[in-house]
Amino acid sequence: MSETQSGSRRLLGRLKQALAEPAEGQERLDRITRLIAEEMGEPVCSIYLFRDDVTLELCATEGLKPEAVHQTRMRLGEGLVGRVAASTKPVNTGNAPAEAGFRFMPETGEEIYSAFLGVPIQRLGERLGVLVVQSKDQEPFDEDEVYALEVVAMVLAEMAELGAFIGEGAAMAALHQHPVMLRGKVGQEGACEGQVLLHEPRVVVTNPFADDAEAELNRLREAIDKLRVSVDEMLNVTELGDKDQLDVLEAYRMFANSKGWLRRMEADINRGLSAEAAVEKEQTAARARMEQVPDPYLRDRLHDLDDLSNRLLRLLTGQGSNTGVEMPENPVLVARNIGPGELLAYGRGLRGIVLEEGSVGSHATIIARALAIPLVINCDRITTEALNGDRIMVDGEQGTVHLRPEESVATAFRDKMAMMTKAQERYASIRRVPATTVYGPTIRLDMNAGLMADLPSLRSSGADGVGLFRTELQFLVRSKFPSRGELAANYARVLDAAEGKRVAFRTLDIGSDKVLPYMKPQDEPNPALGWRAIRVGLDKPGVLRMQLQALIRGAKGRPLTVMFPFVAQFDEFRAARRQLLDELDREERLGHPLPKTVEIGAMLETPSLAFAPKQFFEMADFISVGGNDLKQFFFAADRENERVRRRYDTLNVSFLTFLEWIVMRCGETKTDLSFCGEDAGRPVEALCFAAMGFRTLSMRPASIGPVKHLLRRSNLAEVREVIDDARASGAQSVRPAVMDWLRQQG
Ligand code: PEP
Ligand code: MG
Repeated sequence: MSETQSGSRRLLGRLKQALAEPAEGQERLDRITRLIAEEMGEPVCSIYLFRDDVTLELCATEGLKPEAVHQTRMRLGEGLVGRVAASTKPVNTGNAPAEAGFRFMPETGEEIYSAFLGVPIQRLGERLGVLVVQSKDQEPFDEDEVYALEVVAMVLAEMAELGAFIGEGAAMAALHQHPVMLRGKVGQEGACEGQVLLHEPRVVVTNPFADDAEAELNRLREAIDKLRVSVDEMLNVTELGDKDQLDVLEAYRMFANSKGWLRRMEADINRGLSAEAAVEKEQTAARARMEQVPDPYLRDRLHDLDDLSNRLLRLLTGQGSNTGVEMPENPVLVARNIGPGELLAYGRGLRGIVLEEGSVGSHATIIARALAIPLVINCDRITTEALNGDRIMVDGEQGTVHLRPEESVATAFRDKMAMMTKAQERYASIRRVPATTVYGPTIRLDMNAGLMADLPSLRSSGADGVGLFRTELQFLVRSKFPSRGELAANYARVLDAAEGKRVAFRTLDIGSDKVLPYMKPQDEPNPALGWRAIRVGLDKPGVLRMQLQALIRGAKGRPLTVMFPFVAQFDEFRAARRQLLDELDREERLGHPLPKTVEIGAMLETPSLAFAPKQFFEMADFISVGGNDLKQFFFAADRENERVRRRYDTLNVSFLTFLEWIVMRCGETKTDLSFCGEDAGRPVEALCFAAMGFRTLSMRPASIGPVKHLLRRSNLAEVREVIDDARASGAQSVRPAVMDWLRQQG
């Protein structure tokens, strides 16, 4: 054992002792800084803690002027302390004033200390503060000292977690008593009521140091072996036999077998940490990296690692998957984020899931969709607000969450749930009947899909077909580019599951917010207006060709419908269509069976395409309005920006008049027309689109019932009259008039 290691152990022993003694918050902090300074033989040790999200405060010091305590503050990123906090990486220097960002704080009297070592106090991605030692030497601290201070910071963070460090338990408890309503985004529809089950309610590492490294290495290896077996078992889950989910789990298995991960943990153990402390140290480092990775896909991958670390910690500590907490009745899982493996381990017992992070394409979302569990994602503050056992109501339709709701809110919510259940029954009863409006016409209702997991909805929703299959989703959940064979098999399975119903495959719409991990990200100032969708397809024809070949092969002689995304001008469509025709020729030459029929269409997502030459409308077999993009470009309002997104009503007179123009252009050439943006799934919007002349609408499966129900009770000619009157009146939106009319209709 090295001298430093035994020194660190002694320091830790004293630290534990100090923390076990009764003391108020401040006294405790003072003791800690004193003993770290003593044990490390340095004149200065200081603890800076976050006062709010962006302000750090000197909370205790040994060696700096006592009057600076609770006076000296800096913002995140400011000075060396702020830099440590912002980067969550140590700063170690023999010449602090020469460091970038150095800020001299005269009130502390630190000017005589040249060497500075600051390490973050953080626990599993939560930044708590910065621990600093300073000395008069002109040398940076050595590697062992950095390591020792990091370990001490880790222990301090653990203590903070236990409430033994800052003594803020009482204040925290008060925070958790009031009802709150939180807003997130829809991950999976449905509503539920239940009790909070906090995911990872802390695996507590009580033995950060271990004397017998060999024994710890054995414990770690044994736990890793068990972990691998359990991941392998998970991969055999037949319930989720579909390919998308298996791919997700494959990527996960890769991590479980990662040599680098194991090697780093072994190195930590060799330096004196216990097996669980080594796992947690790696996990904390992974979370810090996660914070800094903007790419959602890579964040999901790092989250897989986080998920594995949790499992490993549970194996090592023997603490259950929800430490000390009984599975409540009607559990609603609350987590910052969750990995696919962990979610599968909870299984179908969950009533709902609320995540602070997450994304529509994340693995957790895919699994939740497959299990049909209501899911709200991006729900800010949920993990800090919720306590185990809290009453919670989740509205997966609206993306809202009521925590500890007042009785009146709870009653209203229950009424709403009962109405939804009734409505579901009503929708189920019209599942097999067409969406024929009063006096006709019949509107075709398709659904939007993107993964195999979506296809069972084709039957349960009563959709006429898939009006938009977003092929990029299958690319986004993978860790590497799929091969043509894999893709063809995928598309064949989609068509098998569609049982003869029409599926409009949209070719890859990547770029903008959908960045594939295996493609070089573009640094673009305005990605939504940038190199995306068909623009990438035409500039990198290899990818487009491969996808077209896979589609042709996947069709296996059945009808094939292909649509190209984000076409802004005729030439783009002509070129993309040419590619498909060339691929059809090539496949024929190679002796592959050709699809029985081929329909080639374009998505109309840019206003320019509505004014394309007539020849474009003649050439396109069909056109589908991508209202999500079209609306953002029509109003110049970013669809991802909450501030501006809701500002412009879809039923705005200008927009409806523009849609009318598109209907007219398609009517001239008898080109089939549909609407497949999210608005098609909103009953009132759907009704107005139908009244403007749309005969096909494509939407989320859950919207089919409500939209069909309204259409079947409406006379489109009357709706059109209401719309036209409102337009003539100078109204900005026809919504108020249509809503009035609907109310009159009861
Ligand atoms: C649209 O833009 O309306 C659309 C359906 O495409 P996406 O939402 O995938 O961009
Ligand atoms: Mg679009």
